[in-house]
Amino acid sequence: MPIYVGSIDQGTTSSRFLIFDQMGRLVISHQLEFDQIYPHPGWIEHDPMQLLNSVNTCIAEALRKFGLMGYEAQDIKAIGITNQRETTLCWDRTTGKPLHNAIVWSDVRTHETVRKLSKLSDKGVNAVKDLCGLPITTYFSAVKMRWMVDNSEIVATAVQEGRAMFGTVDSWLIYNLTGGVHGGIHVTDVTNASRTMFMNIKTLKWDEDCLKFFNLPSDILPNIVSSAELYGNVSNGPLEGVPITGCLGDQQAALVGQKCFTKGEAKNTYGTGAFLLFNTGEEAVISSHGLLTTVGYQFGPTGKPTYALEGSIAVAGSAVKWIRDNLGLINETDEIGPLASSVEDTGGVYFVTAFSGLFAPYWRDDARGCIVGLTQYTNKRHIARATLEASCFQTRAILDAMNADSGEDLKLLKVDGGMSNSDTCMQIQADVLGIRVERPGMRETTALGAAIAAGFAAGVWKTFEDLKDINTRDISVFEPVLGDEKRALRYKEWKKAVERSFGWVD
Ligand code: ADP
Repeated sequence: MPIYVGSIDQGTTSSRFLIFDQMGRLVISHQLEFDQIYPHPGWIEHDPMQLLNSVNTCIAEALRKFGLMGYEAQDIKAIGITNQRETTLCWDRTTGKPLHNAIVWSDVRTHETVRKLSKLSDKGVNAVKDLCGLPITTYFSAVKMRWMVDNSEIVATAVQEGRAMFGTVDSWLIYNLTGGVHGGIHVTDVTNASRTMFMNIKTLKWDEDCLKFFNLPSDILPNIVSSAELYGNVSNGPLEGVPITGCLGDQQAALVGQKCFTKGEAKNTYGTGAFLLFNTGEEAVISSHGLLTTVGYQFGPTGKPTYALEGSIAVAGSAVKWIRDNLGLINETDEIGPLASSVEDTGGVYFVTAFSGLFAPYWRDDARGCIVGLTQYTNKRHIARATLEASCFQTRAILDAMNADSGEDLKLLKVDGGMSNSDTCMQIQADVLGIRVERPGMRETTALGAAIAAGFAAGVWKTFEDLKDINTRDISVFEPVLGDEKRALRYKEWKKAVERSFGWVD
């Protein structure tokens, strides 16, 4: 009897449901985009009900296709969940209904909240970094939750009356899939919890000092669970009765899906943003170079956690969409690669895509996007190339920081995500880094990671050895060809361009 594992991938721009077989091969999938709500410049929201409905539709459609292949829901042994991280939701435990739209991870409305919080301690933005591994920025959930309480009377009253349930997208989905107001469970996995600023990065428990710092009560919080264990069964719909046994934030899921299980391995996922995670083993390394300390995965409630250092880039593939939608330089995102490769270089142009400030390793809320080095000679091909280069240079800055923190130089970078589909972009990446870049044949590594976690808990796979043949076919390899001198010069110029983006807003 063939065995299948399902995976819900709830991303920033779309939801998917995918079914993998025991060999880790993708059997069927369904994907749906949903609305991005922009109430003001810099604000981005999602409608929690629309997120949930999109997931349910993807499940129904994928299962319909699965049925046409002669299979049924009972053939799915377990499902895993992976999700856009940090995006913050709050709902009412008495009705199960959202109290506010979800505030998306890249939303910068909390600029003032960050400023106020940073004044509370001598350590400024690093006030609770030693506890939770994260600096205070607009990015993380605690800051967004604080904003909701300060700015929405509905949320504030619900918190006061003990009716509010806080959660990231994983919590919202698991709560609803397991029954919602009729007995739905309120949990989050360690990887998602490690992005809230509420969890102690060493003990993996909610930290009282962090909660006190953000002045929020603990009764709003879900229970923290491991990334691979039985959380509950799906309570209704086409997957009714199927156990939910895996959960990981999307970037940690990609780390697992890329099988970066050994200390020193790293992957970069180029989606809406880009996120480089470096496995640091059992040690939670606190970065002194602008990186985040995060939980990579924890398989089973008694399993030891594996930690990662993370470099987050807020704008990667979304810049490709920007030059498509806002500048009209291309009609489809996949046109950017050919356009960029029609010139040998950018002609000295650099594009710092700091649309909402700069994340790692710079952490500058006051930065805004800039294109520098323009001349009469510049044309759209140079701009296209500079757009791809932007993510590659920021990745270089992150990798340099990682090498400094870990004391060892990375020799190989595994890549995935929508933008990694561009061969041109990945060749630029190898050239900018001066190391080999490897891209797997099957790019749904995020979903695969959640399926692996779920499959471990359900006994589909028992050891890492069982996974060794998964997704090993059709690997594309990009070796650096650019000379060292040019590489060094261009990176130096990039750093100058980054300086220009700083201080544009107060
Ligand atoms: P997410 O999970 O964040 O929604 P995906 O991994 O699906 O993101 O990647 C989508 C992003 O990848 C989009 O922002 C898009 O601009 C970019 N993208 C997709 N295909 C290409 C391509 N061939 N070349 C460059 N960028 C691409």
